[in-house]
Amino acid sequence: MKIPFRDKEVEIFPTKIVALVKNYKAHAQEMGGEVPAEPSFFLKPPSSLLPLGGTVILPATSQRVDYEVELAVVMGKRARKVSREEALDFVLGYSLLLDVTARDLQARAMKEKLPWTISKGFDTFAPFGPCLVPKEEIDPLNCEIWLKVNGELKQRGNTSDLVFSVPELISYISGIMTLEPMDIIATGTPSGVGPLKDGDVVEAGSPSIGVLKVKVKREG
Ligand code: MG
Repeated sequence: MKIPFRDKEVEIFPTKIVALVKNYKAHAQEMGGEVPAEPSFFLKPPSSLLPLGGTVILPATSQRVDYEVELAVVMGKRARKVSREEALDFVLGYSLLLDVTARDLQARAMKEKLPWTISKGFDTFAPFGPCLVPKEEIDPLNCEIWLKVNGELKQRGNTSDLVFSVPELISYISGIMTLEPMDIIATGTPSGVGPLKDGDVVEAGSPSIGVLKVKVKREG
C-alpha cells in the first residue's frame, strides 16, 4: 500500500507485522490477565493491511470483531540483534495501526491452546495510516493515541505507559527475527477495546500523526 511520507508517497511492503500482546497494564487487566514478564507477540500477515480509504470487512465466521488502536513503528534499516541504545537508529517512522481482532475466534483458540493467526489475520484486519511520520517528529516514549467509534471516544492511551518501550521491543524482537526495512511493529493497545458492527465509522488518531478514518461493513 502507498502512504504519504514527508512530501511524497512511499510504498509500504512489510515482510511481517509484529504485534505485541498485553503491552499496556490496563489492557492486560481488562483482558483478565497480568502483563507478560517478557515481550510477547504474534504476527499479522502483510495481506491484512488495509489501504487508505478502505473498509474493514467483518467476516461471516465471527460474531465479535474488536478494534485495537496501536502506535506502529516502521523499520528503515535491517535490524538483527540490535541493542536498546541503538534501536531507534533503525526506525524510518511512525504511524497508527488498528489490530482488528475476531475476539470470539481468538477466545476459542485460546481455550483450545491454538494460535491466534486466524483471529488476527483476516484481510482488512490491519488498517494503517493516515501517513508515515518521520522518526524525528515523534517521541515514541511519549505519544498519545486515541480511538473513536461513530464519534464516541473509546480508547485513549500514551506510549509512556507501555510495559516494554519501543527501543526495548526493537531490541528484543530483533534478537529473535531479523527486522527488514518496512516491517511494522504494532506496539500493543491501551484499555477500552470493544466490538465493531456493520456501518460503524472508526477514527484512530494521534496529535503528531493525524486521524485514520475507516468504515466497517459486514461480509455478504
Ligand atoms: Mg493488539
